[in-house]
Amino acid sequence: MLAVIIVILIIWASMWAFYKFMYPRAPKSMMPKEGDVTTPRQCNFCGNSLAEYRGVLETNPTLAVNNDSNVAADKELFFCNYEHQADFHAGKVYNPNV
Ligand SMILES: [Zn+2]
Repeated sequence: MLAVIIVILIIWASMWAFYKFMYPRAPKSMMPKEGDVTTPRQCNFCGNSLAEYRGVLETNPTLAVNNDSNVAADKELFFCNYEHQADFHAGKVYNPNV
């Protein structure tokens, strides 16, 4: 019985060490800095949720292409990255299989 407990403890310890090695802490540059807005926001292009400081926030957007869309003109827009921002303004529709 004691052997079973010891084996479980050894497996637990080696798994813990393995995950510690496989998934190290995110680098400091990825962590929110002082003054960063960490409120989650939804991407206006793909609908992904992302902390505000990680994405691209666009105030006073020019909605030349998407005037007929449901986004109000005075609303600020949020995107995961510049690619989504560009695609949104190009009038593209999000395709998750690309
Ligand atoms: Zn997005």
